[in-house]
Amino acid sequence: MEHKDELKKKLEDKGYKFTSQREVVIEVFKENKGKHLKVEQVYNYVKEKQYKIGFATIYRTLSLLEKMGIIGKLEIEDGPALYEYSDQIEKGKKCHMICIKCNSVIDIDKSMFDCLEERIKKQYGFKLESSILDFYGICKNCREK
Ligand SMILES: [Zn+2]
Ligand SMILES: [Zn+2]
Repeated sequence: MEHKDELKKKLEDKGYKFTSQREVVIEVFKENKGKHLKVEQVYNYVKEKQYKIGFATIYRTLSLLEKMGIIGKLEIEDGPALYEYSDQIEKGKKCHMICIKCNSVIDIDKSMFDCLEERIKKQYGFKLESSILDFYGICKNCREK
């Protein structure tokens, strides 16, 4: 997890101020690590912290933090955009399973596909550098209903 000072430096290096509003939004993401939050949820969590930030400011803050690589944005078919905390270490190591019934999103460790990478290399002589993988399906909860 990134230290507060590092985040502060990251913003200031790019010419942005580390305002208390930005700090509180980052806090919300740190406290909800591994979750995928809608803008409304971020707004509500911020409100729970007795903080008053307007909806438009939340939007602007999210897009700034996304640009800075502090949070990740996830666009899913037929659903609202979701945001998640993404630190440097985890970046590129995860992909998503998205439930087509309830729109829930679950992270999967990309190392699961290491054998696929090997097979692609063997069969096609192609060395993977990056990939975009999302899986659409029906989650455990919805299947049990
Ligand atoms: Zn589901
Ligand atoms: Zn995720």
